[in-house]
Amino acid sequence: MLLLIPGPVATRPEVRAALAQDIAPWDPSFRPLYAEVRARVAAIANCDLTQHAALPLQGCGHFAVEAAVRSLIPPGGKLLVPMCGSYAERMARLAREAGRVVVPLPAPSEVPLDPAALAAALAADAEISHVGLVYSETSSGVVHDPMTTADVVRAAGRRVILDAVSAFGALPFDMQAHPEIDAAIFTANKCLEGMPGVSFVLARSAALAAGRAGSWSFDLYDVLQNGLKDNWGSFRFTPPAQVMAALRTALRLHEAEGGQPARLARYRANADTLYDGMLRIGLRPYVDRAHQGPIVLNVHAPADPAWSLQGFVDALKARGFLISNFYNTTTPSFRVGCIGAITPSDMARFVAAADAALTEMGVRVRAAA
Ligand SMILES: *Cc1c(COP(=O)(O)O)cnc(C)c1O
Repeated sequence: MLLLIPGPVATRPEVRAALAQDIAPWDPSFRPLYAEVRARVAAIANCDLTQHAALPLQGCGHFAVEAAVRSLIPPGGKLLVPMCGSYAERMARLAREAGRVVVPLPAPSEVPLDPAALAAALAADAEISHVGLVYSETSSGVVHDPMTTADVVRAAGRRVILDAVSAFGALPFDMQAHPEIDAAIFTANKCLEGMPGVSFVLARSAALAAGRAGSWSFDLYDVLQNGLKDNWGSFRFTPPAQVMAALRTALRLHEAEGGQPARLARYRANADTLYDGMLRIGLRPYVDRAHQGPIVLNVHAPADPAWSLQGFVDALKARGFLISNFYNTTTPSFRVGCIGAITPSDMARFVAAADAALTEMGVRVRAAA
């Protein structure tokens, strides 16, 4: 079964093989593995290790987003979140439930965030200290160019928390060029093509403060202190050591492929093949070509009464492809991931399978509902 979902993604056999071992994570033999993973992820983001730290956290991406919000924004502090899609909504919810004040900035989901709207929102409220940005909005497939928007935040003298979960490793990123970014968040299991189970916050160390998180588990300051104390020998609490081993292999493969630019080029080719293919079989992508990112593609559900998302998912599964089985957009659309250990030829085979699945379902009207 080929996973065509925007994470967890299809992985290479070498990455899966790295899981098949017992590891004692408190033993010194784990140190080189841990050090290599931290060094490699920091290098991808051009971190300055005198200022930034790669802080790992057990668990999924939202855990790391929550840890960043709690560890950087004091309780009662104000976070502006441009509401570009469901991942922005999730950041807003977890910040609110952590007792931070969220100022939502209404924003369209099908086009990149307007920097002028962001500047106006910041000018209107001097109490906003942080802006929560989503780099690649995985619900819509739109890439929001956080470099331009982060420049706006820097000009306004505020700080950025960047959800780079579906971007990191594929979309360009430079922590040194953006001193206003206090945290950038990603997981092992998206564009790095590793396994789920570990997430990271690339944090500006000086922005973290003791006792602010209101949670020991989510306290990045404590994660940092633990690392410094122990010379980064071991995690705080039991790490997913096998997942870390798989990530090390995935990071070596990332470099061997040509790093971030090569990965972006492959994903872009995947997305282009898919976009063209969907048009050719009579379907309409959700986002205009000019704004379509390389990570995930949404396609309008056909208007035909014979259409059902689960029916389509099942017919694709019978043909060896797995796509998302829930709607993520305001009007119904299905979602296909362009990331993972896949190539344009996989996408071409998927287009043929989608065409055959729709024919089998009796979907004649393929125009958008
Ligand atoms: C995948 C993703 C997350 C984290 O999802 P988890 O299921 O918690 O790992 C957060 N933000 C974006 C934009 C994502 O694509």
